[in-house]
Amino acid sequence: MIPGRVIAIDGPSGAGKSSVSRIVGTKLGFLHVDSGALYRIMTWRALAEGVNTADPIAVASFADKVEIECRAVDGRIAYYVNGAEPGDELRTPEVNAHASEVATVKEVRDRITAILRSLVNFGDIIVEGRDITTAVFPDSPARFYLTASAEARAARRRKEEVEKGIANQSEEAVKASLLARDRIDSTRKYAPLKKADGAIEIDSSELTLDEVVETVLAACKF
Ligand code: C5P
Repeated sequence: MIPGRVIAIDGPSGAGKSSVSRIVGTKLGFLHVDSGALYRIMTWRALAEGVNTADPIAVASFADKVEIECRAVDGRIAYYVNGAEPGDELRTPEVNAHASEVATVKEVRDRITAILRSLVNFGDIIVEGRDITTAVFPDSPARFYLTASAEARAARRRKEEVEKGIANQSEEAVKASLLARDRIDSTRKYAPLKKADGAIEIDSSELTLDEVVETVLAACKF
């Protein structure tokens, strides 16, 4: 079987990666892959099992304990844990607060990187995350770094949380949580968040979703 093609999108929390990836994926027929959800699954399970997420040794030995099955469902890759697809439990403030520390652990990153690379067997994929353009698929011909001001990102994230009924924190609290994650993500030792050489940078602060989608589509020469 010929492995699928890859569109890779990185950027900080709340830059709009998920919305953009979903729409571009639908338009081009590429399966949407949310790599952050895998880090969230590890964090959610670690917290549920009482693992101290601030202890890298405890997290490392937990890294292979979570069974994750991937399936292509409705234009995206869905993850199943113990036979069920987790939902909003991955998006709680508690998971937000601990995901970045779990993501510093090499054993966790190695496991998730291997899962992500295997997904080309499902076909063409559009993958969003923090290290997709730099570490997971650095050779992809279509690589993007999507960013936006901290204020724009916090406002979007808060709106999402309120609309979904997940949380109702102040915009300041959401911004502080985003910035704390950005800091850990961009200063960690393994696969830190950064713009890859050759990736196309898009600042979405002043752009509509449609405009960002058009920019990405115009640069994807498939
Ligand atoms: O994208 P999302 O906010 O769901 O990601 C949750 C966390 O997972 C991020 O803050 C980051 O620490 C981690 N992550 C990562 N590498 C990726 C995707 C997410 O380290 N490729």
